[in-house]
Amino acid sequence: HVGTPCRKVSPGSERVPGRRGKMIDREKKEKIGRVAEMVAKAKNIVVFTGAGVSTESGIPDFRSPGGFWTKFDPEDFTIDKFLTSPETRRKQWRFLLSGDLLKEARPNAAHEAIAALEKLGKVNCVITQNIDNLHQKAGNDPAKVFELHGNMRWILCMDCGERYPLEEIIHQNGASEEVPVCGRCSGILKPDVIFFGEALPEETLSKATWHAGHCDLLLVVGSSLVVYPAAYMPIYAKQAGASLVIVNLSPTPADKIADVVIHASAGETMGRILAEVRQGLAGSCA
Ligand code: NAD
Ligand code: ZN
Repeated sequence: HVGTPCRKVSPGSERVPGRRGKMIDREKKEKIGRVAEMVAKAKNIVVFTGAGVSTESGIPDFRSPGGFWTKFDPEDFTIDKFLTSPETRRKQWRFLLSGDLLKEARPNAAHEAIAALEKLGKVNCVITQNIDNLHQKAGNDPAKVFELHGNMRWILCMDCGERYPLEEIIHQNGASEEVPVCGRCSGILKPDVIFFGEALPEETLSKATWHAGHCDLLLVVGSSLVVYPAAYMPIYAKQAGASLVIVNLSPTPADKIADVVIHASAGETMGRILAEVRQGLAGSCA
């Protein structure tokens, strides 16, 4: 939302090329300064991320134009279809082998800034809807990354519950397009991610809920905040009296309850917030 001070500029000036861009940048700079100040003061920060934090790593999100659902059939990601249809399992395995999601995605400036804020002792934990492992790759403590929707790098046996690293299964299966089965019990293997119709991992969800409800600043980065129960996290934080900051390209339903909303790219914004926190400029840029 455009801040009121900018509205005092005469309307004609908005038509001057470049001027509007400058105003937007000044507003963004001011908000980044405010967030850096909030980060500096907070004692218990929780970061909540969605697919938007990883688009700059080349992984498409779900809902933006060109996103995942424009290429794949959601029906193939329902647990019923997966368990009952060998054809769906074959499709999934071919998809995993094709490297579409496996391609060596690297953490971007946003993941790196979040990891750096943790190293500075500012971020307590990360709650993520992502399944791409990029927070861990960026250096966040894996024990403090709560993955609400699982992790693509792991394969789970639906029968005995054994968990295998994806690489191990691919290695064992060679280049074969045959659908692999569990080495222990020959059960059905499924990527360890939450399919439609499956419950969220109970323990992870309850830890995430606890942390969201006990932080003093919740920083949302790159989530449309429409998938529940994940999208309750900002509400739990606000109910507990925490401040709420949202960094997301497009508006979200929680914008109206947030203290600061920045509609901009996660990489650039988080990088600038980190830089300001580091330089200790937080208190002097109002
Ligand atoms: P979403 O696709 O619903 O929303 C992503 C949001 O990020 C959008 O509002 C978009 O405007 C914003 N965005 C896109 N690029 C951005 C950028 N560079 N900077 C800032 N914002 C940006 O994703 P969601 O909220 O995470 O929820 C949907 C589901 O998608 C989750 O269940 C998650 O498991 C799954 N998912 C995960 C991955 C991944 O692991 N990387 C990828 C796709 C989908
Ligand atoms: Zn098994």
